Amino acid sequence: MTQPTPTPGIHHVTCIAGDPQENLDFWAETLGLRLVKRSINQDDPSTYHLFFADAEGTPGTSMTFFPWADVAAGKVGTGQVARTAFRVPAGSLGYWEDRFADHGVDDGERFERFGEPVLPFRDPDGLPVELVGVEIPEDDPTVPWTAFVPETAAIRGFHSVTLWLADPDPSMELLETMGFEEVGVEQGRADTPGDERTRFAAPGTVGRYVDVLPTIEGGRQGRGTVHHVAFQTPTDADQEAMRAAVRSAGLRPTSQIDRHWFRSVYFREFGGVLFELATNGPGYASDEPLEDLGGRLVLPGRFADRREEIEGNLPDVTVPRAEAVDTDAEADD
Ligand code: ZN
Repeated sequence: MTQPTPTPGIHHVTCIAGDPQENLDFWAETLGLRLVKRSINQDDPSTYHLFFADAEGTPGTSMTFFPWADVAAGKVGTGQVARTAFRVPAGSLGYWEDRFADHGVDDGERFERFGEPVLPFRDPDGLPVELVGVEIPEDDPTVPWTAFVPETAAIRGFHSVTLWLADPDPSMELLETMGFEEVGVEQGRADTPGDERTRFAAPGTVGRYVDVLPTIEGGRQGRGTVHHVAFQTPTDADQEAMRAAVRSAGLRPTSQIDRHWFRSVYFREFGGVLFELATNGPGYASDEPLEDLGGRLVLPGRFADRREEIEGNLPDVTVPRAEAVDTDAEADD
């Protein structure tokens, strides 16, 4: 069997939230990501699908949510993406600690992992998230969005996801099939249940790490948990080759599904985590101009001619407006 082209890394992460306004306020204003797409859950058009990313919706930067106001709280556990980490410029974690204090964010103590500083926190639904300080290369593919956070501290796409798995071996083999390489092992921390963390790296720049923690910790999907993680398969040919490899490994990937801004294949990996393979195109700017991203409700394909009905069933939300940011703000440590 021919090896598929390695995935460059994570494409997007999709989560379950509660109140859509709280979700918007936190992710667009407190964290300063750009709302690049305001759409609906294509399986449940009475629910929003909100996409937050960098300034241009670069692959590897989008965190997306299904906000269900009445959904029960979930519990992070085995068989899930248990932590989602974002890159921020090295030296900016002090800025973030101050910002989190100002905004009353539930954050933890800064610590070091694989030589990088990590700041853990939770969003309003209890979703565990981390910021990791990294050197941002000159030619970084991400474009910072500076409406609420200065460029010196702005989030620059995903750093990693951490999978909690009962029996990690088959999943680790799958990651290697997908193009990740094991790059290190580190002892776990007291605040996570696994005692040994194995890190895998893909060849890309953004979202290139997947960490695996072996642990048995009962979880359930709901508010404050990750629904699935998508990996980049830039072209249809890359995706088809990856799909074939995943199938040969004994999994059952779906056929390609058109998700309007990218094309997707889904499968549950051996440990129970829902994985997606997503193409890089057509992209979030394919149906509204770059400068207007997220400005209006976008209804893809068959939903387009039901606008009045769909809008009437969605809760009203206000998108946070940009404030003037002092771009000279010092990023300190
Ligand atoms: Zn997805």
